Amino acid sequence: MSVASIRLFVTGPLNPGAEFALPEAQSHYLATVLRAAVDERLRIFDGVSGEFTARITALARKSVRLAVESQTRPQEPAPDCWLCFALLKRTRTDLVVEKATELGVSVIQPIITARTQAERVNLERLASIATEAAEQCERLNVPHIRPPAPLARLMADWPADRPLFVADERRTAGLLGPARGPSALMVGPEGGFTDVELEAIARTPQVTRVSLGHRILRAETASIAGLALHLAAWP
Ligand code: SAH
Repeated sequence: MSVASIRLFVTGPLNPGAEFALPEAQSHYLATVLRAAVDERLRIFDGVSGEFTARITALARKSVRLAVESQTRPQEPAPDCWLCFALLKRTRTDLVVEKATELGVSVIQPIITARTQAERVNLERLASIATEAAEQCERLNVPHIRPPAPLARLMADWPADRPLFVADERRTAGLLGPARGPSALMVGPEGGFTDVELEAIARTPQVTRVSLGHRILRAETASIAGLALHLAAWP
């Protein structure tokens, strides 16, 4: 990969002319992995200021300095969609975080349900997976990853103004449609939600049960396919 095709998510704010040092991991990536040289240019974004070109002004293995140049893209509005998914085993959770980021979610909320088989996550690792996915797919921000929350607590605190579409594989619900504003998609664990959970979910007024088609999908596929259906038409 050439340095010119690199995009890095950095700590802002980004003002043309400003110079700053990258953290050690990103410095190592540029200096050692990519063998970048002084004066080479790359693109940077911070989640709020848009995207800029930056020039490498100094290069050491553990500290690379960049000078912010001109803006290449202004910050644009991004979909305001949360993905709430029952926590999966590690590699499947990683997959969901990466793909949900590519598909455009704003918040990733792992949930603990009766049949969830994992309870702990390394939030730092998940954040770096999301950051890398955002860097590679031209996003201008990185989704926020929340610590896992029990389903009951999430439902009790559900915001009044955010519609929640709950993926229900029992063939009785209508197909999930495109998001028209702030929304959230919720996907159950490998074994599905229990009846008790589905009843509790259904009592929340913001909830609409939705289908993702006639085939029963594995949980990670349901998150990915559901977000594709829901967010593809978002401008
Ligand atoms: N009930 C099944 C399958 C669970 S699938 C079992 O006993 O194993 C895991 C999760 O993916 C479900 O909780 C649901 O949220 C979602 N899901 C899978 N296929 C779906 C479909 N066709 N429509 C809606 N949701 C689906």
